[in-house]
Amino acid sequence: MTRADELTTNLDVVRRRISAACEAAGRDPGEVSLVVVTKFFPASDVRLLADFGVTDVGENRHQEAEAKAAECADLGLRWHFIGGLQSNKAGAVATYADVVESVDRVKLVGPLSRGAHARGHDVDVLLQVSLDPPGAHRSGADAADLAELARRVGEADRLRLRGLMAVAPLGEDPQRAFARLAGIRRDFLAEHPEATVLSAGMSGDLEAAIAHGATHVRVGSAVLGPRPAVQ
Ligand SMILES: *Cc1c(COP(=O)(O)O)cnc(C)c1O
Repeated sequence: MTRADELTTNLDVVRRRISAACEAAGRDPGEVSLVVVTKFFPASDVRLLADFGVTDVGENRHQEAEAKAAECADLGLRWHFIGGLQSNKAGAVATYADVVESVDRVKLVGPLSRGAHARGHDVDVLLQVSLDPPGAHRSGADAADLAELARRVGEADRLRLRGLMAVAPLGEDPQRAFARLAGIRRDFLAEHPEATVLSAGMSGDLEAAIAHGATHVRVGSAVLGPRPAVQ
């Protein structure tokens, strides 16, 4: 089997899973976008994915993302930055990313805005909200801090507040975690009705995320295969 065959087969399976999950939730499959997470995989895979109709790709490490986005600049893809952001890298990320999904603190807003301004393009922003129990934080803002963060993004030049992103905590039933997320999002939408994006769900839990309102799923290994163990 060639790499192209492998990717089309996997993409087909994932697209069917998304359709089935939408059907089960009584949602239109057109409401859910697939972001293929290409971290650890080469630009040649990104090219194949673009051939097979993928429009959105996700990366979580700045150097890798920057190089791949440059190599694939001719493909017209939307690049989503989904990884932990350092404030000293945020400006650079905003020069190639179309969507930054992992904005979880006010300190990132200034550098992102300046990077987007320098590049002369708008950057869509999702606020990453933590679903972890208090104290056990991996990344993401506390739900209580979203209002202030949203206000700062809303005031920033060249940044467009589009919605929320979350990752289900390890070891918790994703149905429970995403039910909690749906509640956080309901409150958030009441204040920001235009910020309708909800990025949630990965290879293992996209069905649960779609059941709880995800508009974007971020799928890596189910499309590209297992990543190397070292992260
Ligand atoms: C790697 C990654 C994904 C994709 O994970 P898979 O389990 O391979 O689908 C999704 N979201 C984030 C934030 C990631 O870092």
